[in-house]
Amino acid sequence: MNKVYLKRKISPRISNGHPWIFANEVEKTDEEIKAGDIVEVFFYDGKFVGKGYVNPKSQILIRLLTRNKKDEIDEQFFIDRIAQCWGYRQKIGYTENCRLVFGEADQLPQLIIDKFNDYFVLQTLALGIDVWKPAFVKALRQIFQPRGIYERNDIPVRELEGLPQHKGFLSEPFDTKILIQENGLKFYVDVENGQKTGYFLDQQDNRRAIRHIVRDAEVLGAFAYTGTFEIHAAHYGARSVLGIDISESAIKQAAENAELNNLQNIVRFETANAFDTLKQWAKDGRQYDVVMLDPPAFTKSRETIEKAITGYKEINLRGMKLIKPGGFLVTSSCTNLVSPELFLQIIDMAASDARRKIRQVVFQTQSSDHPIIWGIENTRYLKFLILQVQ
Ligand code: SAH
Repeated sequence: MNKVYLKRKISPRISNGHPWIFANEVEKTDEEIKAGDIVEVFFYDGKFVGKGYVNPKSQILIRLLTRNKKDEIDEQFFIDRIAQCWGYRQKIGYTENCRLVFGEADQLPQLIIDKFNDYFVLQTLALGIDVWKPAFVKALRQIFQPRGIYERNDIPVRELEGLPQHKGFLSEPFDTKILIQENGLKFYVDVENGQKTGYFLDQQDNRRAIRHIVRDAEVLGAFAYTGTFEIHAAHYGARSVLGIDISESAIKQAAENAELNNLQNIVRFETANAFDTLKQWAKDGRQYDVVMLDPPAFTKSRETIEKAITGYKEINLRGMKLIKPGGFLVTSSCTNLVSPELFLQIIDMAASDARRKIRQVVFQTQSSDHPIIWGIENTRYLKFLILQVQ
């Protein structure tokens, strides 16, 4: 196996457990590095670091798969890893739906597998993991008897790895509109045409957190996607719920989901741009007991972080202006580029601009099927906050 030696002066990140090695951290290699190969990595003094896959096309030259010298990286290695991922999810209480594999947090860098009861959606976002796709399919077949496996690799980030964007079946074709249950409610998940893998599993535990505050409330939900938070609100006893999203197809699905749960008389949906609409409704004097916001990331890179800060501040300011005194704001941020501390600062700025006093009710993160690994920053990404607004 090709051996890779790191430079003497590199950041402590790698010794602290982070799996990424950048090209400029490598001193020398035994042989020429070929994309997709598994290599053995050593510190400058010859101490073993781990084994990982390489791609010279990527800025991240190596992503480590193991720190154990005895591990052979072969098909069985991946089958065992995926079985371990399932064991862990079961242990912490997930049965029907979960993120089965969360990339770096599961020592399977750049691999995502979402489980929607008997169906699986897979993403391989780096070349070195993409080549093992047959092993992942085999693992899923061995562990689960899946009714279907779908690949959602229609993601621009793959191009940084020299990979094409692609989506399609990894099993016999099946009806890609899947029915799942969450907290006793039913939702359609369109794994072929929905956003990301079709459904935001990372909010599944947070959706329960609105249970008490929405009772008898008039609720507004923006960035509703397929209406999950809004339908939960109706289910938990809201008097009326309005959900908006900019995507017409998401809103269509949301309305269908409301009917599926026989809640169409309480919750309705409209296609609208949240920024314009919330501003206009505040001017019109509309007021709600609860406003829920779950906007997209606003930025993908540190260089444009200001854009995200402005976006979060603006939308939260507009949301707060629509809340009756003593009502609640339910607000999220899903990018790791905005730290939990920064997110709270942004909300604080929004509150002072809106001249509202706030009280923290709940502050939590993504559901625990998306593990957080200390030292791997991008595994800690979701912020979920409930505030009372005076
Ligand atoms: N709350 C959802 C996930 C929301 S994802 C859930 O738990 O399932 C973010 C959503 O914001 C996407 O559906 C996207 O279509 C929508 N969106 C993006 N920009 C928007 C805008 N300016 N106004 C309204 N919706 C927007």
